[in-house]
Amino acid sequence: MAQVGISLGSNLGDRVSNLSEAIHSLGDARSTSHLLVSGLYETVPVDCPPDSPDFFNCVIEIETDLSPVELLDFTQGIERELGRPDERARNAARPVDLDLLYYDEVELKSDRLILPHPRLQERAFVLLPLLEIRPDLEAKLSSNALSDQGIEKIDCTDWIKSA
Ligand code: AMP
Repeated sequence: MAQVGISLGSNLGDRVSNLSEAIHSLGDARSTSHLLVSGLYETVPVDCPPDSPDFFNCVIEIETDLSPVELLDFTQGIERELGRPDERARNAARPVDLDLLYYDEVELKSDRLILPHPRLQERAFVLLPLLEIRPDLEAKLSSNALSDQGIEKIDCTDWIKSA
């Protein structure tokens, strides 16, 4: 069973509901009850077209029997189900975006999948929620670019049930 970190973001439609639905859909990829869910963060878009709406982001960790590519197929299916068009401008607003951050200690570089995610360490909207659920990773993750990224933790408990 592999432990997998997944970053989720939404900046279109009902953002909390989109994230919550995606996490519920990921239930089918899980073989155990292992599920860590971070709090919810509102973040300023990074590398997105001008006037893109703000994101809600979170990070989860699951355990799964799926291989890395099977899991990528699965997460891309969830993105499509929740309304992601096949063709769109790079980083255009989307109901939900799922990125595989790590898959155990696997290192992989293919056309479809890079593990660990190449931008894991660059983004506050990934690192802050990740360290919330996996504080033990702090020694491995170093970043000096976090302080100037607009990010705010949303003050709500049990947000995942609110969808
Ligand atoms: P994005 O538009 O940012 O969601 O990027 C999606 C593209 O990144 C897809 O074509 C994926 O095949 C590719 N990709 C490469 N590595 C990863 C990863 N670790 N997690 C998710 N997508 C990935």
